[in-house]
Parts: sequence; C-alpha cells; structure tokens
Amino acid sequence: AKKSGRNTQKFFDPVMQQTLDARVALEHSLLKALPNNEFKLYYQLQVDHDARPVGVEALIRWMHPERGLVPPMEFIPLAEEIRLIVPIGKWVLETACAQLKAWESTDIANALSIAINVSAYHFQQSNFVDELKTITNHYGVSPNKLKLELTESIVLGDLQDAIVKMEQLKALGFILSMDDFGTGYSSLSYLRRLPFNQLKMDRSFIMNALENANDSFLIQMVTSMAEQFGMDVIAEGVETEQQQQHLIKLGCKAFQGYFFGRPMPINELEAVLKRSN
Ligand code: C2E
Ligand code: CA
Ligand code: CA
Ligand code: CA
Repeated sequence: AKKSGRNTQKFFDPVMQQTLDARVALEHSLLKALPNNEFKLYYQLQVDHDARPVGVEALIRWMHPERGLVPPMEFIPLAEEIRLIVPIGKWVLETACAQLKAWESTDIANALSIAINVSAYHFQQSNFVDELKTITNHYGVSPNKLKLELTESIVLGDLQDAIVKMEQLKALGFILSMDDFGTGYSSLSYLRRLPFNQLKMDRSFIMNALENANDSFLIQMVTSMAEQFGMDVIAEGVETEQQQQHLIKLGCKAFQGYFFGRPMPINELEAVLKRSN
C-alpha cells in the first residue's frame, strides 16, 4: 500500500483491479475443479513411420461449469503458482494408470504406452519417485507403459537431485522423454548429462523445416546425435504428410501431430483405434 495523503483507499487503477478480480475468480474455481471432477484427459496419438499407433500423450482439459473447455495454458501456470499442480499431477497419473489397466485386456490398445506431462514443481517433490511407485503398484500397471514427459526446467534448482531421481525412475522401468527439446537455453548440455530415453523435438523446429534449410539441418543433427546417445526421437506438431515424409528423410522415426489426429476424448480415441486395427 502506498501512502498518498488522505486518499489511501485507491491501490490500483481499474484495469489492474479487473485483472486481479479475474485471477482471484479463476483461482477460486480452480480450487474446486478437482473435488468437482471437472478435469478430463484427452489423448493424442503417437505413431511410427507407417502411421501405426505406438502410444498416446495425455493432455489435460478443464471443463469449467460456466466457461466451457479451458485449455491447459490458461490454468497450469496458475496451478503451479498456487501449488495445486501436485494434486492435479497425481490425478493425471492415476487416471492414466487406470486407463492403461483397462486397456490391458483389449486387443486394440494393449501395446500402447501413455505419456503424461509432469510439471517441474511436481517432479521436485521429495516423494515423487515413491508416489509413482505406489500409484503404478496400486493400479497393477507396468512402469514401462508410462512415459514421463519432462522439460529441462526440472534441473533448475538441483541438477544432481534431478539426475538421481531420473536414474531411480529409469531403474524402475519408467520411460523418460525430454519435452520441448530445443526451446530451452541449454538443451544440448543437459542432453549429455540427463538419462533420457527419448527426445521430443519441439514443434517450432518442425513447423518451418520444409522451408528452412537450417531447421532441417538441426533436426538431422539432433536425430543422429540422439541416436549416438541411445535415445529415440519423436517429432511433435506434425500437421501434413509432406512434413512427415521430410522428417523421415531427416531420420525421425516417431511422430505426433494433427496430421495423425487431434487430442480427443477416450471414446473417440478408442473408436479410431478400432478402425485402424
Ligand atoms: P505440450 O506438452 O508441448 O503439448 C503439445 C501441445 O501441442 C498440446 O496443446 C497439443 O494439443 C498441441 N498440438 C498437438 N499436435 C499439434 C499440431 O499438429 N499442431 C499444433 N499447432 N498443435 C499441436 P495443449 O493440449 O493445449 O497443451 C499445452 C501444454 O499444456 C502442453 O504442451 C503441456 O506443457 C501443458 N499440459 C497439458 N496437459 C498437461 C498435464 O496433464 N499436466 C501438465 N503439468 N501440463 C500439461
Ligand atoms: Ca508434452
Ligand atoms: Ca511438447
Ligand atoms: Ca510445447
């Protein structure tokens, strides 16, 4: 609060006040979203070079009672700020495990893995590895069906702790994928030090690769380097057949993007899987 004579009531201008009100309202409804069962997982296919499904990425959606579908970019950062990301992340993990279990006895999806997005704040919790162990045990799910998509921000804070956790997760059989590769500051140096199984090339590279020779060169370089490190590479944001063909020439072997399917609710995904089976 600022001391400006006798008029001490006015802290903000009206626009700032409005923004603050909106944030408080969003925060208030976000706190009720989990108990009110308003979250839903959508699933987007991950495919091989023949467009055969190899797995899916789970992407969270918030079905807000008044606003309708709220995209994750509008509430994940807030959830991280108010520490709600840990219970939300736990819900994502449990929902994905329940899905993997249900798929075990089907012939359309028993071979598929599910990739989930793990917030750095959640990863950094001291019981993160135990939590994953407990939940996969509880659902009777094999860790090698679960892929954890992590960004390089997990190392901000304590690099050694991140490495130890990753080694533990890997020893348990979980698959570790480095999300948004190429968007950070030091992806290359982390790649050398962090034990990832997979590298997920960011959409920003894929987007311009057809027109931009430099981007193509980078993709090719990253792909062969990943191979040297024993990691596989998946390209995200593939929207056209030409893009996929180009990426295959550059050495990519796995793909995800609108060309193969949008993120969709579970019943739609299962219908697609049945048709492609
Ligand atoms: P991300 O992990 O990089 O996910 C990829 C985003 O690109 C998704 O947006 C997906 O719908 C979109 N996408 C997929 N294919 C294409 C394509 O061909 N073209 C274009 N233009 N976009 C494509 P979405 O679902 O809105 O998610 C945005 C971000 O929110 C994610 O980025 C991830 O960082 C975060 N997020 C989503 N679900 C979760 C979750 O369960 N937990 C956490 N912590 N974060 C999540
Ligand atoms: Ca992701
Ligand atoms: Ca990504
Ligand atoms: Ca991204």
